[in-house]
Amino acid sequence: MNSSEIISGAKEELICIICPIGCSLEVYRDSDDIHVKGALCPKGIEYAKQEFLDPRRVVMTVVRVKNGDLPVVSVKTSVPVLKKCINDIMMITASIEVVAPVEIGQVIARDICGANIVATREVKKINNCD
Ligand code: SF4
Repeated sequence: MNSSEIISGAKEELICIICPIGCSLEVYRDSDDIHVKGALCPKGIEYAKQEFLDPRRVVMTVVRVKNGDLPVVSVKTSVPVLKKCINDIMMITASIEVVAPVEIGQVIARDICGANIVATREVKKINNCD
């Protein structure tokens, strides 16, 4: 849902994750203004508006590895992506297989929903004796 699709009066309840206090926030649109209740500081207001208008997440998953000492490698998006892109990213990463060795930070796939998919751990190549 983008900002133009949010109808006036739409309301959302959130927990602020910016600091350990975890304020309970209520965010809603009243004509052209976005209002936030319950935030103890401006960071919570900014967080609530971002979540209301343009929610994004870093996506973490795994990708299959061929000839590795592990069958999969953990990966994540290089930047937070739109929540509506999460399914696409999961489908694409499920179809990928990389060949070992894999280095931490290695780019596994480029420019998917505006992010790269990068490895978050190392997978060594196994030595096949046959
Ligand atoms: S609104 Fe401010 S004080 Fe409350 S949880 Fe968020 S960052 Fe912390």
